[in-house]
Amino acid sequence: MTNTLDTASSAPGTTVTQERKIVTAIPGPKSQELHARRVAVVPPGVSSTLPVYIERAHGPILVDVDGNQFIDLGAGIGVTTVGHTRSSVVEAAAGQMNDFLHTLFTITPYEEYVRVAELLAEHTPGDHPKRTVLVNSGAEAVENGVKIARRYTGRRAVAVLDHAYHGRTNLTMAMNYKAAPYATGFGPFAGDVYHAPSSYPYHDGLSGQEAAARTIAYLEKRIGAVDLACLVVEPIQGEGGFMVPADGYLPALQEWCTANGVVFIADEIQSGMARTGAYWASEHFGLVPDLILSAKGIAGGLPLAGVTGRAEIMDSALPGGLGGTFGGNPVSAAAAVAVFEAIERDNLLDEGKRIEKKLKSRLTALQEKYDIIGDVRGIGAMVAIELVQPGTGSTTKEPNPAAVTALANHAAQNGVLLLTAGTYGSVLRFLPSLALSDELLDDALDVLAEGFASL
Ligand SMILES: *Cc1c(COP(=O)(O)O)cnc(C)c1O
Repeated sequence: MTNTLDTASSAPGTTVTQERKIVTAIPGPKSQELHARRVAVVPPGVSSTLPVYIERAHGPILVDVDGNQFIDLGAGIGVTTVGHTRSSVVEAAAGQMNDFLHTLFTITPYEEYVRVAELLAEHTPGDHPKRTVLVNSGAEAVENGVKIARRYTGRRAVAVLDHAYHGRTNLTMAMNYKAAPYATGFGPFAGDVYHAPSSYPYHDGLSGQEAAARTIAYLEKRIGAVDLACLVVEPIQGEGGFMVPADGYLPALQEWCTANGVVFIADEIQSGMARTGAYWASEHFGLVPDLILSAKGIAGGLPLAGVTGRAEIMDSALPGGLGGTFGGNPVSAAAAVAVFEAIERDNLLDEGKRIEKKLKSRLTALQEKYDIIGDVRGIGAMVAIELVQPGTGSTTKEPNPAAVTALANHAAQNGVLLLTAGTYGSVLRFLPSLALSDELLDDALDVLAEGFASL
């Protein structure tokens, strides 16, 4: 079977058959050998979910050094949204590599950076004038979004929501909800970061209006709007567990921000770039963020991130105040242009909707059978199930991280890479590439169903 979304004749990765295949114990002998070398030279702080060492990948399939093939439902945490080694992206990057690898945009610029900024201006919500600064990582985009918001407003405080995840740099550690493992022992942390209550409909039972009133009361009482530079929100929280906020919650927050001169920043690093059946999850809620942060899936697997926003806000930094040595690297930028082209040419927004439909229908069917599936939620190719202790689904909804671990292990042993998430480790998240066919998705979900049956 070939990958139907990747039809170029000279497609890279054509040696990767599009199937799940397990030929050794997991991890296999060659992976175990590599792992022994790794632990001698890489610290345990850099951990790996599944220590099978990858040799090749294409579309939604990972091939390890022992010849095992995994259906990848994680896509490197939402990075290879267009599929591993998508031919047009590889060709664009390779072409750029033959031209030049680096100049530093802030010394001698090049078109690819400008083109990415044009595409982001065109494909982000709102038709106001926009500017984009390109950087290397999601955390760096968050850092820059906050810098720019402070510079523009002249205010000091930064607000985030409970269950948020924003990165691993000093400022972003302070912005995450979960201390362990991201912040434990790494302080002191950046000050003036405030954690406001969020909307988590499965647990708080609040309507969007009620949850927004609670968040806004916190912002007003605990910080005060006059001192608040920005509110940073993930429209659908990623690491927190794919919570879709109650109807009306996010628009009410944006309205309050606009009325109070607070910069509304959407962290779409995980939810963005065609993952949810729209370019940005913000679109599902009718949001027009002042600044929108992108990274992960934007360059098809190469490192690139951006801050895109209203010209008057973005223009507030002094010349030289933004940038960095590798920001907007020409190879990454060329790949990002090819990602935008693939989304348009191959109608990838529709693929997100297709995947949601299949995931929701099969997961809801499992939920009817297994009462430990407390909640099925998400949009597009960003869907999760939250697992609870037996019998608590309609009462206390006690987290069930043990079942999550058992199911992820069962999946891995059978050739399906499935990621976990959630503040309480009780969420299984489905974050596949849009190149995942219904056939392979059904196959992966059959493995999950066996896992439930054997719990
Ligand atoms: C992954 C992620 C980040 C951090 O991105 P890095 O590239 O790992 O620094 C920030 N915000 C969200 C929502 C993310 O999912």
